[in-house]
Amino acid sequence: MQNLVKNVYFKLLKEFGDLNWWPVISNNHKLEICLGAILTQSTNWRNVEKSILKLNDNNLIDAKKLKNIKVEELAQLIKSSGYYNQKAKKIKNFIGVLFEEFNGDLDYLFSLRIKELRNKLLCINGIGKETADSIILYAANKPMFVIDLYTKRIFSRLGHEEGDYDKLQLSFMKNLPFDVELFNQYHALLVELGKRYCKKDPECSNCPLLNFCRTGKGLNPSVF
Ligand code: SF4
Repeated sequence: MQNLVKNVYFKLLKEFGDLNWWPVISNNHKLEICLGAILTQSTNWRNVEKSILKLNDNNLIDAKKLKNIKVEELAQLIKSSGYYNQKAKKIKNFIGVLFEEFNGDLDYLFSLRIKELRNKLLCINGIGKETADSIILYAANKPMFVIDLYTKRIFSRLGHEEGDYDKLQLSFMKNLPFDVELFNQYHALLVELGKRYCKKDPECSNCPLLNFCRTGKGLNPSVF
């Protein structure tokens, strides 16, 4: 796995170059990323962007204002992200903990050590591992590798033995230097590959990973 993890990274970097992640529009980057990480659950980024724009237009990328807004009102503004009633509750849960335990200060929350921060986030109703790790990496700027559906799909098709979230995450974290920029870039590159080539129905013939890939070479067609 060590060589595969590194080879895939360099191949994708050569193919796609530097990718600019996480895209933000407001002046409140850290909070916007936390909101985006919750809103992107079970939907694509285009839908999230519409919700973020709406929140920004209503000056709601602001922890105090989110604390005060009614959950029903918030739900109407994030409709484009789907599951908007649930997601509005999740945002309110996150903001609730932020004010109850951290004076509404994200920097205070993010001053926790990585393990404590992850545990704290995972205790919030509606925040799972992928959301917590996205917040840790992209908003708190701490080295935590994010595993998403694209990562699972690509590495399973490459021939990496299927594992749960934690096992796959460990494979990356123990074979790469602990580096925020690297984890950030690598995740973005995998998402790009997933969008362009390793889709639900993969387009293998032009995929930059074809030479590494059991599935692309027809050695493991069962995963289709
Ligand atoms: S070769 Fe095909 S299956 Fe393998 S990573 Fe590329 S698109 Fe996915």
